[in-house]
Amino acid sequence: MNASYDVAIVGGGIVGLAHAYAAIKSGLKVALFERHPQALGASIRNFGFVTVTGQQRGEFHALAMRARDLWLEVAPHAGIAVEQRGLYVSARYAESEAVLRAFIDTEMGEGCRLMPPAEAPFLADGQRLVLHSAHDIRVESRTAIPKLSAWLGERATLRYGVSVTGIDSGRLETSIGTILAERIIVCPGDDLNGLFADRIRAAHISRCQLQMLRLADPGFRLPGAVMSDLSLIRYLGYADLSEAAALKARLQAEHAEQLAQGVHLIVVQNADGSLVVGDSHVYGDGPLPFASEATDRLILDEYHAVLGAPPPVIERWTGTYAVAPDRLYLIDTPMPDVRLAVVTCGAGASTAFAIAEKTFSTF
Ligand SMILES: Cc1cc2nc3c(=O)[nH]c(=O)nc-3n(C[C@H](O)[C@H](O)[C@H](O)COP(=O)(O)OP(=O)(O)OC[C@H]3O[C@@H](n4cnc5c(N)ncnc54)[C@H](O)[C@@H]3O)c2cc1C
Repeated sequence: MNASYDVAIVGGGIVGLAHAYAAIKSGLKVALFERHPQALGASIRNFGFVTVTGQQRGEFHALAMRARDLWLEVAPHAGIAVEQRGLYVSARYAESEAVLRAFIDTEMGEGCRLMPPAEAPFLADGQRLVLHSAHDIRVESRTAIPKLSAWLGERATLRYGVSVTGIDSGRLETSIGTILAERIIVCPGDDLNGLFADRIRAAHISRCQLQMLRLADPGFRLPGAVMSDLSLIRYLGYADLSEAAALKARLQAEHAEQLAQGVHLIVVQNADGSLVVGDSHVYGDGPLPFASEATDRLILDEYHAVLGAPPPVIERWTGTYAVAPDRLYLIDTPMPDVRLAVVTCGAGASTAFAIAEKTFSTF
């Protein structure tokens, strides 16, 4: 395979696939290399929740909005179902209500509305106020990623089971030989010690580990994704508002155990009725292979407070993604014709398509 391409991409997660999509749309001859027989990392383990609402105000929020539009553009072509549209953020504390009221008054509140809990009858008793947003969508990643890959594979060369072991200007060394490419984009996810490990270290990128659950069909349909009070201090679009300080203090006092494990609530629903529920966040270079039952219990406690008694757990898994203390994504230039693209905040499904456009604008 001594072929030559306009663009070669390393990594078959959503970030790599999004770059392939952008390159194909520009009419370029593209090859993508993924070391595993299929994407197995964060991109198939996530909620598939394309989150616009709550992303950091400004550029990142705009990137998420653009990426959502690109998901809606590609999904019908690739046969990907948009399983849910819209988001419900439920607040049960006065301090959370203050955050939601402040949020809706910003430009990020456009397309959102506040409503009484009675308008969201799937919620448990004890909620005070609900923010509904029309912006967010949800796909089922474990089927969406293979479908996207298959569709791209009809328009580009996608090689699975191929490791890229070295990169030099205009060439990639791979487990099947040398590949030539005018431009190379490396999308390694949280592979911290592989290609350009020095640049990754210099950007202070490390890893976050999460626990996830699938619950049986609860017997009702959720009209959109659901989040709760704990999310309002994680997602920067809310957490950066001055009103969030009082909420942080209350949650620290009343939910210390959950905060220590980085627990907050996202609930999304599949076509078969089952729910994907999470998650927790533990930082460090891990990942450890052990999933904690105590952490799952903390996630389910939050579910109980927001949606009532949880149905049985039918599946559990862990996942990891790249994080950095001072940036939400990295587009680095290790060589003039090479880019390193990493989403460093756990929002790759929400932003990869727009970040890919940005990467190409830097050549
Ligand atoms: C549990 C969980 C829940 C999440 N929920 C959401 C969510 O709802 N919404 C959202 O927006 N984000 C979410 N995220 C974050 C999101 O999944 C990630 O930001 C995103 O998937 C990162 O994509 P990626 O392509 O960079 O990484 P990955 O999916 O990890 O893909 C990187 C790929 O590169 C390959 N690779 C690396 N080096 C080489 C090499 N040298 N040669 C060949 N192949 C190589 C790896 O094998 C891997 O398949 C979640 C993450 C997790 C773990």
